[in-house]
Amino acid sequence: MDDFRRLLLNNRAWVKDKLDLRPDFFTASAREQKPEYLWIGCSDSRVPAEEVTGTQPGELFVHRNVANLVVHTDFNILSVLQFAVDVLQVKHIIVCGHYGCGGVKTAMTKKDLGLINKWLRNIKDVYRFHAAELDAITDLEQRTDRLVELNVIEQVSHISDISFVQHAWKDHRRPMLHGWVYDMKTGELNDIMKVDPGEHPHDIYEFEFDTEK
Ligand SMILES: [Zn+2]
Repeated sequence: MDDFRRLLLNNRAWVKDKLDLRPDFFTASAREQKPEYLWIGCSDSRVPAEEVTGTQPGELFVHRNVANLVVHTDFNILSVLQFAVDVLQVKHIIVCGHYGCGGVKTAMTKKDLGLINKWLRNIKDVYRFHAAELDAITDLEQRTDRLVELNVIEQVSHISDISFVQHAWKDHRRPMLHGWVYDMKTGELNDIMKVDPGEHPHDIYEFEFDTEK
């Protein structure tokens, strides 16, 4: 059998399992989505968002890219974020990195990989901000894992710098922001930071809003 056919067969078995548990599973979920969480994770195949959080279809709005970056010129993630904040009105945004991240590892090398250099450049910047701390870690794996954590913290702060996020904080006291790191060796999610709605970003990133919308 062609390898890809296994996925289609799996799909039919999955449909049967869902319908056995709840006959209206698909008709109900097809009506609308009202997820409370936006998950921003790495594209890595070993970090499946729904599986590691035990969530069902309809619970997570998901965006994944290499090394879970929030880049202010990336219309893709900005569109996902604005839709999640303004339309879905999610209560929580989770940026989830993972130890052993290939994107982070590669960003720590001098490898020239073409276009992706531009993307990984964002992680090199995070390294530069924390070079003193990172350079002092002699074990390469530990240094990589610390950069994974610092990268998650930096990406969460990028979300708090966005004007429509600050607007939602002011008007609706949501969403709460979270930084998590998944440990592929244990399967556990580590909660490393949280930003409450309205918590001030660095002054230079703060917006003032004249009118209530
Ligand atoms: Zn990764």
